[in-house]
Amino acid sequence: MAVMPEGYREFLKELAQTLKDSKVLWNEPMSRHTSFRIGGPADLLVIPRSVEDTGRVFVECRRSGVPCYVMGNGTNLLVRDGGIRGAVLKLSPDLDGIVPTGETVLEVGAGTLLSELLDTACELELSGLEFAVGIPGSVGGAVAMNAGAYDGEIASLVSRVKVLDQEGRVFWLDRDELSFSYRESIFQHRNDLLVLGAELRMAKGKKENIRHQMEEYARRRQEKQPLDLPSAGSAFRRPPGGYVGPLVERAGLKGFSVGGARVSPKHAGFIVNTGGASARDVLQLMDVIVRRVYEVSGVILQPEIVVLGEDELPQ
Ligand SMILES: Cc1cc2nc3c(=O)[nH]c(=O)nc-3n(C[C@H](O)[C@H](O)[C@H](O)COP(=O)(O)OP(=O)(O)OC[C@H]3O[C@@H](n4cnc5c(N)ncnc54)[C@H](O)[C@@H]3O)c2cc1C
Repeated sequence: MAVMPEGYREFLKELAQTLKDSKVLWNEPMSRHTSFRIGGPADLLVIPRSVEDTGRVFVECRRSGVPCYVMGNGTNLLVRDGGIRGAVLKLSPDLDGIVPTGETVLEVGAGTLLSELLDTACELELSGLEFAVGIPGSVGGAVAMNAGAYDGEIASLVSRVKVLDQEGRVFWLDRDELSFSYRESIFQHRNDLLVLGAELRMAKGKKENIRHQMEEYARRRQEKQPLDLPSAGSAFRRPPGGYVGPLVERAGLKGFSVGGARVSPKHAGFIVNTGGASARDVLQLMDVIVRRVYEVSGVILQPEIVVLGEDELPQ
């Protein structure tokens, strides 16, 4: 259990009263905000519509020692069954939009969904992001996770990122300060920073070529991935020189279940929620996968999914 400062619930109530322009939800089941459809209640979930409110929650929580978790569209998250003590800041498309700032340059708010960004880029005849079609996250989440597919990754387009720090300062960090590598960025290790937006440098392209490439990638996803069931995408990072799916298959675990969590029979790199899965089911299944893959292939798999929250509800 996280050790919470005394009176933290009163602090959250007072904080919520100061928010001018946010959706405020109490004891909100995180299963409503994650693509896995799993997760116990967050004490307070705030969906800010202004940078001011975003800053107020982030800074005041940090100042008071109350945990404040930042999320985007919840598509890479597993929230444990006991939920989250403290506040969750969910950056949504309500926060900011997409602004062209040069012939091939876009400034994009963190809460913007990649799907919206892709559609806009295509309309503006800007190429480079086609690989991201079908990644269901937000721009902030994509930057934090360095989301990628089909040999592309968002890091290759990011020139700088607008951040908010725990003192409430807003500033830009250049790409070479962001420690991007495979599914990695500085934001996974610096919980004193929040992504507010990103500047992306695209290339000029032709609308029909961009559309065609996006359709091709979408078709490949549809063919290979279990998109009909809730999941958080690939459960594990790709190990050097290999792929997770074949390793899990070789370990005899394709289709293997723990409770409502199952290794997808369509793509063994995905864990799907077949209905009513708990976070405990998913975590136990991940443990089995890690152990069996190591026994059979000697490879130690690392989770790609970010796990948050408490095992048990508060008494
Ligand atoms: C069906 C499916 C397919 C997927 N395919 C892919 C794929 O091909 N490639 C891929 O890379 N991923 C894939 N994913 C995983 C996921 O969509 C990406 O990791 C995505 O970038 C996560 O974005 P999000 O907004 O949902 O982030 P969340 O899941 O909400 O958060 C993920 C992490 O980012 C942090 N974060 C989010 N927003 C911010 C912010 N503004 N500031 C600081 N930190 C932040 C969170 O704290 C958390 O640690 C897939 C997921 C699903 C469900």
